[in-house]
Amino acid sequence: MTGEPQADCLFCKIASGEVPATVVRETATTVAFRDINPQAPTHVLVIPRVHYPDAGTLAAAEPAVAADVLREAAAVAVDDKTDGSGYRIVFNTGAGAGQTVFHAHAHVLGGRGFNWPPG
Ligand code: AMP
Ligand code: ZN
Repeated sequence: MTGEPQADCLFCKIASGEVPATVVRETATTVAFRDINPQAPTHVLVIPRVHYPDAGTLAAAEPAVAADVLREAAAVAVDDKTDGSGYRIVFNTGAGAGQTVFHAHAHVLGGRGFNWPPG
C-alpha cells in the first residue's frame, strides 16, 4: 500500500498510457476517462495516478490526492454540464459493494435522474 504502480492493475496501465482510454481531464495527480460500460449519459472515472486499492486507503495515506480526485470529479460534472441538474459521485468499496477494479476510483454519473436508496 505504498502508492507504487502495480504490474497487474488495469487502472495503473491507463494512468501510464499503456492501456488506451477516452481521457477527458488530466492533472499531475489524477486522470479522468469515460467508463467503457456507461450507466448514464455522463459516466466518467476519476483515478489517482498512485495505486491504492480503494478510496479510504487513498485518503488515509495521501489525503491531498484524495481531495484532488474529488475536485476533478466536480470539474467533470461542470465540463459535461451535469452540475445544474445534479450528479452522483460513487466510490464502490469492496466486492460486496460492486467494486471490480481495486485501484481507487470515483464514478461521476450524470445526465439522468437517480433513485434513492441506490440499488
Ligand atoms: P467498479 O466496479 O466500481 O470497480 O468500477 C470499475 C469500472 O471500470 C466499471 O464501471 C467498468 O465498466 C470500468 N472499466 C473496466 N475496464 C475499463 C476500461 N478499459 N476503460 C474504461 N472503463 C473501464
Ligand atoms: Zn493501480
